[in-house]
Amino acid sequence: MPDIIQLLPESVANQIAAGEVIQRPASVVKELVENSIDAGSTSISIVIKDAGRTLIQVIDNGKGMSETDARMSFERHATSKIRKADDLFAIRSIGFRGEALASIAAVAEVVLQTKRDEDEMGTEIFIRATEFVSQEAVACNTGTAFSVKNLFFNVPARRKFLKSEAYEFRLCISELQRVALAFPNIEFKMLHNNTEILHLAPCNYKQRIIELFGKSKNQDLIEIKTNTSITKIRGYIGKPESAKKSQDAQFFFVNNRFMRHPYYHKAVLNAYERILPPNVSPAYFIYFEVDPEKIDVNIHPTKTEIKFEDEQAIWQILHATVKESLGKFSIVPSLDFNTEASIEIPVLTKNTRITIPSIQIDPTYNPFENEDIAKQEKPRFEKDYFKQNNLQNWEKLYTGFENENKETPEPENQKLFDDKDPVKSVTPNILQLKNKYILSPVKSGLLIIDQKRAHERILYEKYLKILSEKRRQTQQSLYPLVIELSGQEHNLIIENIEEINQGGFDIQDFGNNTIIVNGCPADIPSPNPKELVERLIDELQNNPRQAGKASDYMAVILCKASAIPYGKVLTINEMRDLIDRLFACENYNYNPDGKPILSIIQLEELEKKLR
Ligand code: ADP
Ligand code: MG
Repeated sequence: MPDIIQLLPESVANQIAAGEVIQRPASVVKELVENSIDAGSTSISIVIKDAGRTLIQVIDNGKGMSETDARMSFERHATSKIRKADDLFAIRSIGFRGEALASIAAVAEVVLQTKRDEDEMGTEIFIRATEFVSQEAVACNTGTAFSVKNLFFNVPARRKFLKSEAYEFRLCISELQRVALAFPNIEFKMLHNNTEILHLAPCNYKQRIIELFGKSKNQDLIEIKTNTSITKIRGYIGKPESAKKSQDAQFFFVNNRFMRHPYYHKAVLNAYERILPPNVSPAYFIYFEVDPEKIDVNIHPTKTEIKFEDEQAIWQILHATVKESLGKFSIVPSLDFNTEASIEIPVLTKNTRITIPSIQIDPTYNPFENEDIAKQEKPRFEKDYFKQNNLQNWEKLYTGFENENKETPEPENQKLFDDKDPVKSVTPNILQLKNKYILSPVKSGLLIIDQKRAHERILYEKYLKILSEKRRQTQQSLYPLVIELSGQEHNLIIENIEEINQGGFDIQDFGNNTIIVNGCPADIPSPNPKELVERLIDELQNNPRQAGKASDYMAVILCKASAIPYGKVLTINEMRDLIDRLFACENYNYNPDGKPILSIIQLEELEKKLR
C-alpha cells in the first residue's frame, strides 16, 4: 500500500480556514473595517451591493501599504501587528491573526488599491480564489481600498447557504454599528445599492449612540463611570422605563473591541433587579479599559469572546457601577413637581464674593448631660407604641419612626411637615381616587400613583437594607405558635430557615412537619405569624431560589405582607408621606414585581380630550 497522507494545496487549505473567519458578507465588512481602523484611518466608506453578494468595498484614508506589503498582506499569517508569541498578550490593534485577507482572497475576487503618503504611485493587486492574477502601479489617494466581488463564487454550497438579502444586510449593518460605537471619532459612510444608508460624522460616544439608535435615546441614557486599578468602566445604560422585550442595543466593548460576555450581561441585569417589569431588559453601551495583558482575545477566530483574568472582580465592579448610577438617577426625580415657590440655590459667578458663615457655639453644652442612654436604646417598636398611636397597622409602620418620641396629635392635625419649610409648604395638592390611586398635579400634567405598589417599593428597599446589613430585628411572641405544615411546605421552610430567621423570624423545626414560631420581624404590623408563614411559603413556592438572593426574597415577602392594601382611605399627610418616601427610594418606577407604580397624564393629552 502506498502512503496516503498528502498536504492539501494552499488554495484548499485557505478555503477551509476561511470557513472559520468568513462566514458571510458581514464577516468581510467586519474584517476590512477593522483593518482600516488599525491602519489609523479617520474616515471609512463602505459600499455594498446585493447585501454583499456582488460587492463589498471598503475605502479608507489610513496609512496604506508599500508594494511588497500589499502583496504580503494576502499570505496566511501575514500580519504587521504582532511579531512574536509574547505580543499576543499585549494586543492593542483589533486584528492580529493575519488570517482575514488570506481567507477573503480564498473565497472571492479581490482588488486591492493602496498607497502610502510617501509614495508617488500606489499599487493595485488582483487576486482570485487565492490565485495571484496581477499587480501594477496606479494613481490613487493615500489609503487603501479593498473591493471584494462575488463572494463565495467558488464555494457554491456557501453561497447557497446565505439567507435573504434583508437578513444579510442587517448583519452587515450590525457589524458596522459595533465598530462605529467603539470609534465615534471616525467618520463612517455606508452605501447599499447606490443609496446612502448611513453617514456618521466624528463625534463623542453619546452622540454616536444617538445617531445610531435614535434621538429618543438622548433622554433614556444614564452615564456610568468608574476607575479602579483593574479596570476603567464608562458608558451609558438605559433608564428602566425604556427597557424593551427585544434588545438590539446591548453592547460591551473592551479596549474598543466589541465583545459578547454573558456573565457580565448578567451583572448588568442583576443591577436592574426588581426595577424592571418581567421579560424586558435595558439598553447598555459599556466600555471597559483593561490592561491588554490581563485579557485573552485569542480564544475564537471571530474574536468576540474574551477571557478576563480578573473576571469576578470586574463583575463586582460592573454590577456596583451600574447599580450606583441607577440609584443616583432615581433619587433626583425626573418628575417636575411645581416648585416655583421653592428656594432657589444661587449659582456662583466669578464675581460672587463668598463670606465665611459664622457659627455660634455654646461651649457649655453637653449633649449627654440629661440623657438616659439606656432609654435611647429601647427597641423602636413597643406594644404600647401602637396602642398610643391608635393607628391602623400599616400606618404604624411608616409614620412610626418619625413620631416615636413626639406627642401624637389627632390625625387631622398631624403635622408631618413643618409648614414653614418652603419646600414642604409647596408640596402639591393631593387627592385619593377610589381608595387606590393618589393623584397630584405636577408641572407636565397629572401624576397618578398606585398606593399599594408604592408602599411595596418603599418597604422592599427598607427590608433589603435591614437584611443586607444583617441587623436582625425580631419581635418575640408572648406565646410560641406551633404550625403544622405539609411535608413539602415543611421542607421549604427548613431549607431556607437560616435566611428566614436572618430576616427577623424566630422559627424552629419541631419535627413531624411542624414548626414553632417564636417571633416575627420587628416592624411588621399585625404580626399574624400564621399568615406570615403562609405568605412566606407562597413566595418561596412561586419563586424558586437562585444563588445569592436570600435577602431579596425576604425583602419581597416582608414588603408584600405589610404593604397598605387597596381600599384603605389615606389622609393628605399620609399620602404626602407616601409620595415623599417613594421618591426617596432608589427606584420609584416599579414595584418589586416590576409593575409600574406611577404614570403621568400629560397636559397635552388632557387638552386634547377637552377640545
Ligand atoms: P491582521 O489584521 O490580523 O494583521 P489581515 O489579514 O486582516 O491580518 O491583514 C494583514 C495585514 O495587511 C495587516 O497586518 C496590515 O499590515 C495589512 N493591512 C490590511 N488592511 C489594511 C489597510 N486597510 N490599511 C493598511 N494596511 C492594511
Ligand atoms: Mg485584520
